Amino acid sequence: MASQRQIHVGGVPVGGGAPVAVQTMTKTETANLPATMAQIRTVADAGADIVRVAVPREQDAEALKTIVAESPIPVIADIHFNHTLALKAIEAGAHCVRLNPGNIGGPDKVAEVIALARQHGTPLRVGVNSGSLPKHLRQLEYDNPVEALVTAAVETVALMERLGFEDFKVSMKSTSVPNTIASNRLLAERIPYPLHLGVTEAGTKWSGSLKSAVGLGTLLADGIGDTIRISLSTFHAEEEVKVAWEILKALKLRERGPDLIACPTCGRLQFDMDSVVAEVERRLEAYEDPIEVSVLGCAVNGIGEARHADFGITGAKDMGMIYSKGEPLKKVPTAQLVDELFKEIDRYYAAGKTVQRDEAQAADARAWLAENEDATAMTPERIAALEAAAEQEDASADAVLDSMLAPAGAGLDEAESPVAGRRFTRS
Ligand code: SF4
Repeated sequence: MASQRQIHVGGVPVGGGAPVAVQTMTKTETANLPATMAQIRTVADAGADIVRVAVPREQDAEALKTIVAESPIPVIADIHFNHTLALKAIEAGAHCVRLNPGNIGGPDKVAEVIALARQHGTPLRVGVNSGSLPKHLRQLEYDNPVEALVTAAVETVALMERLGFEDFKVSMKSTSVPNTIASNRLLAERIPYPLHLGVTEAGTKWSGSLKSAVGLGTLLADGIGDTIRISLSTFHAEEEVKVAWEILKALKLRERGPDLIACPTCGRLQFDMDSVVAEVERRLEAYEDPIEVSVLGCAVNGIGEARHADFGITGAKDMGMIYSKGEPLKKVPTAQLVDELFKEIDRYYAAGKTVQRDEAQAADARAWLAENEDATAMTPERIAALEAAAEQEDASADAVLDSMLAPAGAGLDEAESPVAGRRFTRS
């Protein structure tokens, strides 16, 4: 359920079925141009589609002119409390202005900003924060915080519409993940405008990423949300961008760069997989193609669930193997696994995305795999596969039983059912 309306932040479409746009916010003092521009370039390289900068002072609004001119991606000016700064940001050419109409000094000042935004064709991001809802919603906030947030957002939208302005997206920020999910679900049903999603003040890289993945991932999986920002307590804004991309990639909403698959490891591991995975992940950052690379901690499963990977490695104490699309490529000393993996990947690209296979080396690798495989070992992967197969069998048996019982059971409720304890969906 993408939003019906679409706006454009610079050249980036937001809403109306456009790809979910990734944004972040610089952590620098905006008026410090070298620092701000360096961070904008870093986040753009990491994959940010849009960047937001704080504009709390005159000198920041002044710096916006240069930032907008030099930024490789569209720039949103983030304004609170001061409508004059919003006016200056629009005049400086900001591609979008973020403000909360509730804290900008009253409807007249909002109207003044909107008049100028309309004149310049500048879209706005309007919204509400759980910490600063209007006074008349305080009791509702106490009784029903989700409804209070949604009501405040809908009132903001109504204000925009009364002023004849529809070039905006809406955000509704809460520090609570359940409230973020519930309020955005409700709001998506009530308004046609694009939604900016985020869990505000989510926390550190670790906890904030998880909260954001749960909150935003749930909404995005429902088709709700047109642009996302991951709020992390770090000065490295590019980390926010990386997390946003991982969420979008996990949901297959967008593709960017390689996908690394790695087993969780277990007692069968015989090499330092932590370091190997970290090194593979670091080196993959240099690649833009959505190639899939897998790292398995041992070969006891064979290539197993990594069969579909474009390239992969698995190792034992001294030797390991490189494979591609389920086929062994070559055997190499464990210490050289990562270097040799990347040589193979580079050869693949140099040959126009064709895997380069040396039959003698492949035969050697197959022999190594045969020695190290153990089809009888109960590995985590095999246990999971057995459990999945058992569930599938149960489901099939249920379906057969249901179809056998359906004609005779039609109209019966559970109590009357000839099979005690079984659920019937018809009554
Ligand atoms: S058995 Fe599975 S989880 Fe354990 S090290 Fe081997 S591949 Fe990794």
